[in-house]
Amino acid sequence: MSDCIFCRIAEKKIPSKIVHEDDRAVAFEDVNPQAPVHVLVVPKRHVQSVAELEAADATLLGQLMLTGAAIAKQKGIAESGYRLVLNTGKNGGQTVFHLHLHLLGGRPMHWPPG
Ligand code: AMP
Repeated sequence: MSDCIFCRIAEKKIPSKIVHEDDRAVAFEDVNPQAPVHVLVVPKRHVQSVAELEAADATLLGQLMLTGAAIAKQKGIAESGYRLVLNTGKNGGQTVFHLHLHLLGGRPMHWPPG
């Protein structure tokens, strides 16, 4: 989608610090990090949020989660722990309407989140 910022990042039409890419997903550093490690994992296909996924997308969603876990390992935070988050819709705190998984770590996370 031409007016979607994460589609444009995935297509490399706007710059980002990409840390992983495969046939279905791309991961890049969040421009406004909320933790020492803050990476976004996004599908290349435009889909608004997890709410729009269907049963056939189960492997895509699993791939995004496993990619987040693999990046956590690469970044050296797998042992200390981290958080994988899918903000969904307005009350979920979603501001960019292209599905993205947040990987946050490198500091203790608080619960409940704000
Ligand atoms: P959410 O609130 O879950 O929709 O998260 C959107 C995230 O996208 C925020 O953490 C933003 O800092 C991040 N973000 C927005 N624009 C960019 C960009 N151009 N490059 C990297 N991260 C971005």
